[in-house]
Amino acid sequence: MIEVKNLTKRYGTHTAVDNISFSVKEGEIIGFLGPNGAGKSTTMNILTGYLSSSDGVVTVNGHDILTDANAAKASIGYLPELPPLYPDMTVREYLNFMYDLKKCKLPRAQHIEEICRVVKLEGVFGRLIKNLSKGYRQRVGIAQALIGNPPVLILDEPTVGLDPMQIIEIRSLIKSLGKYHTVILSSHILPEVEAVCDRLVIINGGKIVADATPEELTRQYSSSHHLTARIAGAEESVTDLIAKIRGVKKVTSLGSKEPGSFDYLIEQVDGADVRAELFNRLATRKWPLLSLKTADRTLEDIFTSLIQAPSLAAGTKGGNRK
Ligand code: ATP
Repeated sequence: MIEVKNLTKRYGTHTAVDNISFSVKEGEIIGFLGPNGAGKSTTMNILTGYLSSSDGVVTVNGHDILTDANAAKASIGYLPELPPLYPDMTVREYLNFMYDLKKCKLPRAQHIEEICRVVKLEGVFGRLIKNLSKGYRQRVGIAQALIGNPPVLILDEPTVGLDPMQIIEIRSLIKSLGKYHTVILSSHILPEVEAVCDRLVIINGGKIVADATPEELTRQYSSSHHLTARIAGAEESVTDLIAKIRGVKKVTSLGSKEPGSFDYLIEQVDGADVRAELFNRLATRKWPLLSLKTADRTLEDIFTSLIQAPSLAAGTKGGNRK
């Protein structure tokens, strides 16, 4: 349904999206996940034809977004990070306005009524948008994306700024929309995509660092090859010491969870057991080993290690980042 091949976007000398490729099959709900500034909005804007790419190809429903833009755009319903709402219009006026703008051919009254039913807007149809709560405004944003019944929905940070109850409601709405649409949802919140999506595409620094189901990711990154250690001492020096131990494939700092110490994820090469050597070396440097256990990693840990700053990853041995 969506094919992204070698997509690159440069802003002057800054490469915001760096040669990324991924595809989305019909009916899938994909979470496009990454920290602030990772390149999510830039990618979403290129996918929807709002922004041109510097390089690469994007096709939506078989249509090239550059050379066959109208057909590609007609296949997409887009909810940008800041939905383009007109506060002085009522919900009714706005949805009719968007219907005209999109040159929708479906029976007007019936189509708009059906959308309002699906996104639960019936109760506020006659209200001015400026008088709606943020949660309801987001529903109006989703409603405009649904006009024309596009097969693909692209939702950029759809729950940002909502309260916890509204977040639950919007997530459940997106899940239900996924039954009839292919959905790409961008977010920097892992539980969000975990709750809603079939597959995660994780982007960091403009590059894709993982593309897998949550189960695959957990399986791939949780094995007895991994240890987690909490060590008191300077982060960079400790990282450097661990990386030099024979049998260590990769070490990643997971940040500080206790004052004066940092947690590390240590990946061992097949058959290696680095625990005794680690203990001895840390003791020599007088850096207390506060805990050491076989890693039972949550998806949150995996996400954190995948989006570690490149400077820290550069201090790892083996350097097998994807
Ligand atoms: P956020 O979650 O904060 O919206 P994001 O993952 O959506 O982040 P983008 O907005 O795509 O990230 O930005 C990616 C990088 O490109 C950032 O470093 C950002 O500062 C830069 N950037 C985005 N738009 C422009 C622009 N118009 N001109 C220059 N740099 C830009």
